[in-house]
Amino acid sequence: MFGKDYVIHSSEELKSIRRAAQAAAVVRDRLPKMVQPGMTTLAVNELAGRIIAELGGQCAFLGYHGFPANICVSVNDEVVHGIGSVNRILDENDIVSVDIGVTLDGGIGDTATTFTLNEQCSGEISHLLKYTHKALLKGIEQAVVGNHVRDISAAIEKVARKAGLGIVREYVGHGCGIKLHEPPEVPNFVCAHRGPKLRPGMVLAIEPMLSLGNGRVLTEKDHWTVRTIDGSWSAHFEHMVLITEKKPEILTWPKMM
Ligand code: MG
Repeated sequence: MFGKDYVIHSSEELKSIRRAAQAAAVVRDRLPKMVQPGMTTLAVNELAGRIIAELGGQCAFLGYHGFPANICVSVNDEVVHGIGSVNRILDENDIVSVDIGVTLDGGIGDTATTFTLNEQCSGEISHLLKYTHKALLKGIEQAVVGNHVRDISAAIEKVARKAGLGIVREYVGHGCGIKLHEPPEVPNFVCAHRGPKLRPGMVLAIEPMLSLGNGRVLTEKDHWTVRTIDGSWSAHFEHMVLITEKKPEILTWPKMM
């Protein structure tokens, strides 16, 4: 059911959405174990495509508004929407963001993570990853009945500010489930409008994108890759969350598959 500025999913729809979200989570959690220095980002994209197919799903991003890849692979100062390339060979000092969309049984799963290829990464990079992930979890805590979308935004912004990280404002979280992008938008900062009240059956993709710099971004000539203007490195974590009568249910929580 579509409201004016939000969507309530039926229990039948939620069955499909749960399966798709779990498949997306499996891909997200397998990739960091398989991606090695020396691989190209194109190989990461192909690997993700194979895992998605193995799980019986389809790549939800492929062809979406013309997006030309299976998943988004964004390295270092690239924030989101990176396209795997045969020319981009990963180095042990790189940090890699993967954003995965899976269509399965009519539902959609959307989730993202950022990982290092080297456990000995700098203190600055572990700070970036730790607090971007914390911002996501703090945002999710506010995804409860009776709150408004802005309560999620405020929790994310608070963590980012305290950690001294820049917030990417051009890209925001969103409703998700049957379509990849459903209302409402879920900004990672407080804006004038408080957004709709949260109701059981709403599914939100919450996805802070933070950087070590000021968070301002540009889009590359390929019309997709978004990178920071100041060249600072950025991180992106995303979960899909179902609003319930009680605690939020994280549909993309890691599964033992
Ligand atoms: Mg998303």
